[in-house]
Amino acid sequence: MEPTLLARVIPPTPGPAAELDRLGDEIADLSAHLDAATAHLLDLIREFDARGGWNTGFRSCAAWLSWRVGLDPGAARERVRVARALGTLPRLAQALARGELSYAKVRALTRVATPETEERLLAVGRAGTAEHVERIVRGWRRMDRKAEARETARRHTSRALHVYQDEDGMVVLRGRLSPEVGALLVQALAAARETLYQQRRASDVSAETSLGGVSAETPTLAQQQADALALLAETALHRGMDPGAPGERYQVVVHVDAPALADPEAPGQSVLEDGTRVSAETSRRLACDASRVVMRHAPDGHVVEVGARTRTVPPALRRALQHRDRGCRFPGCGLPFGQGHHLRHWAHGGPTTLSNLALLCRRHHRAVHEEGYQVERHPDGELRFRRPDGRLLPEVPPPAAIPADPVHAFRARHEAQGLSIHPRTAMPGWLGEPLDVGYAIDVLHPLAAG
Ligand SMILES: [Zn+2]
Ligand SMILES: [Zn+2]
Repeated sequence: MEPTLLARVIPPTPGPAAELDRLGDEIADLSAHLDAATAHLLDLIREFDARGGWNTGFRSCAAWLSWRVGLDPGAARERVRVARALGTLPRLAQALARGELSYAKVRALTRVATPETEERLLAVGRAGTAEHVERIVRGWRRMDRKAEARETARRHTSRALHVYQDEDGMVVLRGRLSPEVGALLVQALAAARETLYQQRRASDVSAETSLGGVSAETPTLAQQQADALALLAETALHRGMDPGAPGERYQVVVHVDAPALADPEAPGQSVLEDGTRVSAETSRRLACDASRVVMRHAPDGHVVEVGARTRTVPPALRRALQHRDRGCRFPGCGLPFGQGHHLRHWAHGGPTTLSNLALLCRRHHRAVHEEGYQVERHPDGELRFRRPDGRLLPEVPPPAAIPADPVHAFRARHEAQGLSIHPRTAMPGWLGEPLDVGYAIDVLHPLAAG
């Protein structure tokens, strides 16, 4: 008998390869839906940020996001950054909203894109893989930095100060200073003008009392600036050109009357060294953790006794506090450095002990002293923070309610918006050829030719 070749019947059920294809399509499809939903999320974050919705005791929109949604701080900062950037980059925003460009690509592109370069970078995002986009963006930033460094160097080279004598013997100044040096000079001139003003006022008062109301004419601003420069030169030569340690240079000194410190309602003075008045609440915050020098004044204002400088929170206790609290204790903050806040102010007899102290960052120290936020320690040792309206501010907020099938909800919403998202929506146009980043930047970057 001849052997018979039986044709094998192809089974009607799909093989494992086709099944995996379908699984892959489903992954691509859902990812595009998630990107489209992320675009919507970023729109909401941008609006919330712009309208200051986070400004309820939180340091920033990112800090709020991290607290409320549970993002890690880095990811929260990145969301806020991308949300803000997309506000001025409509093409990239739209590509994300249509599920055509992944969040990872958009995140990378928004680091360098400007309204002028957005279109070109969008093309890069569509053509390349996420890895290509990342490499192009890195090359782009190098080019940006190069261009910026060239500009800074050009400005720095052009710094100059010309001093020459005019025909009548007056000395003329003309110059260009870099911005930070200029700021320093402007600040120094302002301080010198203020000193001269105080001196003039004091001598005017004595002149008035002795000469019966004759006071010299007030100099013009230009004249005051000239006098101020003279004082600067004199002071610099007198002090031997020593700029001092940074800590001394930016020290803030507050003069505050003891009764005002204990009770914000009590009359008394709280003034900065330069004469600026600050609120009693502010001086209580500054005194909460500070170097303290107690001076006794006689009724006529003369200083009669000056005590030694002491730290309100001694170094050993500060180390223990840092070790226990690790960072700012305000819900959702956790900034690693802070100030020791007295839960009961020392001016009220609150002891400087671990149980009466809590570490708070500068922002949140202000919140509890000046913005009406309250903090107290419960008998179980836990801190409880309250908003100014008395509502409790929980360490961890309650989770949001989500639909039973969030994926279905996405699809339904995107369909209702007329979005057609399918497994090939976010496919790059790349065909597998190698990427030449240097060439790409030369072609794409507007300053590459320079
Ligand atoms: Zn405090
Ligand atoms: Zn804080």
